[in-house]
Amino acid sequence: MTDLHAIDRTARSLTIDEGGFPAQEQQPPGLTSEMEPHPDHGEETWVGRDRLSGLKALITGGDSGIGRAVAIAFAREGADVALNYLPDEQSDAEDTKKWVEKAGRRCVLVPADISDEKAARAMVDEAAEGLGGLDVLVNNAGFQWGRREHGLASVKTDEMDQVMKVNLYALIWVSQQALKHLGKGSSIINVSSIQAYDPSEALIDYASTKAAINNITVNLAQELGEKGIRVNAVAPGPIWTPLQPATKKGDSMPSFGADTPLGRPGQPSELAGAFVFLASPLEASYVTGTVIGVTGGKPVF
Ligand code: NAD
Ligand code: MG
Repeated sequence: MTDLHAIDRTARSLTIDEGGFPAQEQQPPGLTSEMEPHPDHGEETWVGRDRLSGLKALITGGDSGIGRAVAIAFAREGADVALNYLPDEQSDAEDTKKWVEKAGRRCVLVPADISDEKAARAMVDEAAEGLGGLDVLVNNAGFQWGRREHGLASVKTDEMDQVMKVNLYALIWVSQQALKHLGKGSSIINVSSIQAYDPSEALIDYASTKAAINNITVNLAQELGEKGIRVNAVAPGPIWTPLQPATKKGDSMPSFGADTPLGRPGQPSELAGAFVFLASPLEASYVTGTVIGVTGGKPVF
């Protein structure tokens, strides 16, 4: 039995007094294997209690970061999972698959660029077929471009297209397609951001998609309530994932997360509890249309 009191989830999140994370940069989408230090996805810490027994979940962006932590926790809670990711992220996806299978669950890999409508829809059907159904959809894939000097003046149309397509269009396409498979007791969990409440100048387009995701969450919860499908969102604060070195300036890493009340960035493992709760048909049976903030203390209201 794991000694829960002996677990220090903050061990890999260096405070700013400790120097923060080393400066580093990658090209998008970024790989976990190139990050220093390696993020904590709960590999050594998540203790399953059969809270998602027999459920089948599709996680977009499930290869790395928050998606990987959710995949590991879902598997240990008894769910089979399908992971969507970009073809360039195959090595990250294979690592996540190993952890899911180690938990005794099935893992279906469905790589696809979901900024393409046809590919996004086909991916959902492939996942549902591979899993033999679908109970939980986690719309976690996201993209931002944070290496900009200024706000509005620096927004380029091709970058904005990518951000809007991945964060918003794909979320709608994937959710529409998933509705063909979801039923009573199912749920959708969207991934919002602290940026929906406290937008950074450099992330003007990204922040707007996250505010829209909060709105879509409320909207869909209203529509799907009568079908017994719950729709919620998780709003992360600054979390140590490939998205950061892949989309921000390398020299911003040492101070990443310094401005939170807890004084440090979070690890992907620290998000998993919110997703497990929201996915649980028993524990979250009356929870829909809401956003859970996991932000290190930055306000989400
Ligand atoms: P991550 O890089 O590990 O995950 C993002 C994933 O998005 C990638 O792994 C990739 O598979 C997927 N993706 C991007 N473009 C895609 C495309 N065209 N087709 C298919 N998949 C695509 O980083 P993460 O931080 O774990 O990001 C997960 C979610 O969390 C994102 O929605 C992000 O906006 C959100 N978020 C992250 C932070 C943070 O500080 N890391 C904060 C707030 C919100
Ligand atoms: Mg990735």
